[in-house]
Amino acid sequence: MPYTKGIGNAGQVLEKVQKELLDYKGTGISVLCTSHRSKEFTQINDHAEATLRKLLDVPPNYSILFLQGGGVGQFAGIPLNLLNGSSEMDYAVTGYWSNNSAKEAGKYGQVNSVLPKLDSYTGIPDRGTWKLSPQAAYLYYCGNETICGVEFQDVPAGLPGVPLVCDMSSHFLTRPVDVSKYGLIMAAAQKNVGPAGVTVVIVRDDLLGRANPLCPSILDYTQQKKNKSILNTPCCFSLYVTDLVLEWILENGGVEEMERRCIEKSESLYGAIDGSRGFYSNPVDPGCRSRTNVPFRVGGAGGDEALEKAFLEGAAQKHMIQLKGHRSVGGVRASLYNAVTKEEVECLRSYMIEFQEAHQ
Ligand code: PMP
Repeated sequence: MPYTKGIGNAGQVLEKVQKELLDYKGTGISVLCTSHRSKEFTQINDHAEATLRKLLDVPPNYSILFLQGGGVGQFAGIPLNLLNGSSEMDYAVTGYWSNNSAKEAGKYGQVNSVLPKLDSYTGIPDRGTWKLSPQAAYLYYCGNETICGVEFQDVPAGLPGVPLVCDMSSHFLTRPVDVSKYGLIMAAAQKNVGPAGVTVVIVRDDLLGRANPLCPSILDYTQQKKNKSILNTPCCFSLYVTDLVLEWILENGGVEEMERRCIEKSESLYGAIDGSRGFYSNPVDPGCRSRTNVPFRVGGAGGDEALEKAFLEGAAQKHMIQLKGHRSVGGVRASLYNAVTKEEVECLRSYMIEFQEAHQ
């Protein structure tokens, strides 16, 4: 979705960034030039942590880390920190990203695939069918599969004593989370929280201190905690913007309000899809349709590629860009992250109806 000056939630933060860019809070220098050891950056780091703690009501026995390396970096960081002698890990693979994460973890130990074999990533098998191992170092799942549009609507129950680990990259801070149910939560910032370059890790403190000796220091949660996430030069600018976004979420009603908006926005699009008499289709089981990523095909269930091309071209003419579905699934995908407004989603919905009337 585009940022048009004056509209779009991203604009509110970006305008602040623009205003402060040349002179950060009267220091006479840009935040881009500030040392990561400066008083100013230390304040940004502390403030981001405190705001996130407030937003998710993170219990005191959990550490918050702002790391680099993205979600994919954590696909390795998680097993390297949590295996702790055990060689088994349980992975619930419900889509592209959890599949990639399981493959990465397989470099470090035995990955148990806990779900029955899926023909397509369009649903979450009933909890009764999951094969969980009491020996597993942790149970991993992806809260929201960005590409397939499959989202867990509740927290899956694991086995007692086996920490639950979740990749929340694409729905982080779009809904309340009971952090105490998790051993570890990770989220790459670039969807809902800020620019790429920051990866949030929230880890229960009793899981620290057990990293594999071969774990690179920058991925080692214990070392990063000791160094307040500044073991090496961090992405200062990205964390600065992340801090502004966190503050924006707090000022705009917190995660409860973000959730309300996400429900409203996604229901509007699913309504257009379901009411289209098959012209648009979303294959995901309605019980786990994502509120942040709505993939759909145009021109019937299998998609008509020529119509989809025309749909995307027409959307671009109306300044609705980057709606192309991921290459692995094709079609169209509307990502409704916190920066996207209800008005922008309504523009897309109106365009969908208009396009359908012209082509069905
Ligand atoms: N997990 C999920 C759910 C994602 O959507 C993505 C990226 N789109 C990743 C992990 C990988 O994140 P990164 O590109 O920051 O490595």
